[in-house]
Amino acid sequence: MTDAVVVGSGPNGLAAALTLARAGLRVEVFEAHERIGGGLRTEALFDSEVFHDICAAVHPMAPASPFMRSLDLEAHGVALLHSPAAYGHPLKGRPAALAWRDLDATCAGLGRDGQRWRRLMLPLMEHSADVVDLMLSTQRTPPNPKALALLATRLPAQALRVGGGLRTEAARALLTGAAAHGIGRLPSPASAAVALLLGHLAHTTGWPVPQGGSQAIAAVMARQIEGLGGRIHTGVRVNSLRDLPPRRLTLLDVSPRELARIAPLPKGYLRALSRYRYGPGAAKADFLVEGTIPWADPRLTQAATIHLGGAHGTASELARAETATAQGVRVPHPYVIVVDPAAADPARAVRGRRPVWAYAHVPQGDPRDPLQMIRAALERHAPGFTDTVIAERGVSAAQLGAYNPNYVGGDIASGAMTLWQTLARPVPRWNPYRTPLPGTWLCSSATPPGPSVHGMCGYHAARAALDTWPEADRTGSASLERDDHRLGV
Ligand SMILES: Cc1cc2nc3c(=O)[nH]c(=O)nc-3n(C[C@H](O)[C@H](O)[C@H](O)COP(=O)(O)OP(=O)(O)OC[C@H]3O[C@@H](n4cnc5c(N)ncnc54)[C@H](O)[C@@H]3O)c2cc1C
Repeated sequence: MTDAVVVGSGPNGLAAALTLARAGLRVEVFEAHERIGGGLRTEALFDSEVFHDICAAVHPMAPASPFMRSLDLEAHGVALLHSPAAYGHPLKGRPAALAWRDLDATCAGLGRDGQRWRRLMLPLMEHSADVVDLMLSTQRTPPNPKALALLATRLPAQALRVGGGLRTEAARALLTGAAAHGIGRLPSPASAAVALLLGHLAHTTGWPVPQGGSQAIAAVMARQIEGLGGRIHTGVRVNSLRDLPPRRLTLLDVSPRELARIAPLPKGYLRALSRYRYGPGAAKADFLVEGTIPWADPRLTQAATIHLGGAHGTASELARAETATAQGVRVPHPYVIVVDPAAADPARAVRGRRPVWAYAHVPQGDPRDPLQMIRAALERHAPGFTDTVIAERGVSAAQLGAYNPNYVGGDIASGAMTLWQTLARPVPRWNPYRTPLPGTWLCSSATPPGPSVHGMCGYHAARAALDTWPEADRTGSASLERDDHRLGV
């Protein structure tokens, strides 16, 4: 009998497996796809030497999340590379807005909003570790008072008004573009929290891309698991928990819908799970581009991440588009995130050919091919973009859902990011990771703290499972012990 089985090898499944292996448990991972990684896969799509990230591309959480920091990616040969600006936002007919890594440079570019941006971001930057720990916690422990106070004094303005108290179009667009990563109604409490988290990280640990692509992060986790004696099986879609080998613990990096499909759950819990709501979808486009993206404002070539939205790029247009999309309406100019990894990692461009990654927010389950829509959005702010494209492909929200059962209807957050579901993922319980089945725990991004590549859902679920494991049976120790007092776990 093995000690623990993990189903799913996304960042949370691998984080759970590694946390258990570090505590000395014998772990086996079962992954449906032929390759590990879930949202961390990177592939050569059009040219055998140019690699495209299939899902996650940019990683603000990699240098910030306590679990990700414990991987010591750099020591394992994976540099986290930064472009001079963390992100940018083109505005039609005006200079683009840029969130430089350097706070002073950013404020200087924001005119009369420069000081407001500083007042908003600087205190968060000074207490960044506490703010990150609070946001990436189980949401069940007493919050750090300083971080709580900083957020409590900033959240209401952002949650109630598009752009908070900012007045210039550039600053409002910058903040709203970050808020829209929350995928949902704008403004809202959840999107406000995302804006403050991502907004201040732009000026602290940054929004890096991992050298060579996101798969490198999964590879480091897999090597560490295997180094501790764990085993990883790919190409195995688990259709019933009964098919798994005998084990004492089961951790599931799956969506609540998949959990209900594969586990013999009691009726009450199934009813609670059926109330779980999925959010808007993402529809993706991949381009192989000759040269650089011809941005109307060439400074945008210095940002690996660029936000587009609305016909002119304004914050109000973006907010209207996000709210309508969350209500299931197809909008002509949706929010689009573009990532140009070679802006941070020049080696990603080979013989002058670079991968360009983009996705649009669309209604849940939308079957439309987004290619034309995304190309048009890029063309609006980078005239001539179409002429640089050598090869391209579109993936609808519906196809993304078929590619990975965690992305129901293309919902890459594995559950709508409303205020309620931020706290009560997947069901309103004190321990959100525990399922009613003995020894069986949910560890995907459908648990707190939610989506993104931080591994903290997997880590928290594994820690909760380890709390039920007899101390005498442990031979190792979970290596985040030093962080546990800060995380309150
Ligand atoms: C297009 C796109 C772009 C994104 N961009 C970013 C970004 O730039 N930065 C960022 O931080 N995040 C990004 N994300 C979100 C991020 O990828 C996810 O939040 C993260 O991957 C969630 O991790 P997870 O481990 O919970 O689930 P996943 O990464 O989805 O992994 C789940 C794994 O479980 C497997 N699985 C599910 N059911 C079964 C089963 N029954 N049997 C066996 N295996 C199963 C799946 O095949 C999958 O490999 C993006 C996502 C997408 C789709």
